[in-house]
Amino acid sequence: MTIILKISRNSPERALIKQAALIIKEGGLVAFPTETVYGLGADALNAKAVEKIFAAKGRPADNPLIVHIADRKDVYKFVKEVPKEAELLMKKFWPGPLTMVLKKKDIIPDIVTCGLGTVAVRMPSHRVALALIKEAGTPIAAPSANLSGRPSPTDASHVIEDLLGRVDVIIDSGKAYIGVESTVIDLTVEPPLILRPGGLPLEEIEKFLKNVGKEEKSDKPKSPGMKYTHYSPNAEVIVVEGYRGGVMKKVQEIVDEERQKGRKVGVMAVVKGHKFDADIVKFIGSTEKEVAKRLFRALRDFDKEDIQVIIAEGVEEKGLGLAVMNRLRKAAGYNIVEVK
Ligand code: AMP
Ligand code: MG
Repeated sequence: MTIILKISRNSPERALIKQAALIIKEGGLVAFPTETVYGLGADALNAKAVEKIFAAKGRPADNPLIVHIADRKDVYKFVKEVPKEAELLMKKFWPGPLTMVLKKKDIIPDIVTCGLGTVAVRMPSHRVALALIKEAGTPIAAPSANLSGRPSPTDASHVIEDLLGRVDVIIDSGKAYIGVESTVIDLTVEPPLILRPGGLPLEEIEKFLKNVGKEEKSDKPKSPGMKYTHYSPNAEVIVVEGYRGGVMKKVQEIVDEERQKGRKVGVMAVVKGHKFDADIVKFIGSTEKEVAKRLFRALRDFDKEDIQVIIAEGVEEKGLGLAVMNRLRKAAGYNIVEVK
């Protein structure tokens, strides 16, 4: 049995927050909104509760969770060292879409970090998330609230699709603001290393940290979670990226080929003025920010319309575009067509 609680994103109703927080305190699972995507939360200090997250999502046992806190100061309770770079990033970007990997204290159960000596910590800015964590009086471990491998949920309806009957509470506070998950940065290495591009653009971090390591396209995934198939709709995805002037023509060529094979083809377009002849064309925005916000929803919507192949136009890798392309290429299983 799953209870669905509609909670206001701007002024969360106290009684409803209490109801959800009680479930967390009792070791249950609560899906809740954050500014990035919806999370599936449990008491981070209760190993049995955290175990339920892995079961509900079908999440591989070696993919660690992010611990969410509601007060910057709480980070000192859960990590051994806060390097000065971390202090700076906390001050500039918390609450917000930045997750920091730091050396963990023993109080964090091994199941949260999958036995790693480090823990990922974030203070979200969404009012409902903050109210829930505060009221629960405990940090909340939470990955994205989707079945493992599926596109992350940016709306409560996506959580309902994936997890109804598998969790105790789903909070519905409407759409997530950013639409892609947090940026993950490892501060236990020198220089700090971006493990996953996300909701906080790299350019923002580089304003304050001169020296930041990034994953190269060819590198093995550095964050345990990044090696798995991810963000995949049922449809096959093909990404067309590269020289802008040639992308539209290439997309149409692939659409025509696929339709000749008798397949139902969708186009995910990101350039105003690009026109396509396909079974369904979705224009999801032209700025990196708009595309980030609508990407996961669009992937799910194509599935609902029984599209078999999605041909997606790439965006520029600046701002949130870096996170968008990271998600899109993974959704495509690296089925990428580069236009020169
Ligand atoms: P999710 O919340 O489902 O988007 O997944 C959390 C992401 O954070 C995954 O990519 C994890 O691999 C990553 N992560 C969590 N804890 C750690 C850690 N201690 N070290 C490195 N990456 C981590
Ligand atoms: Mg996830």
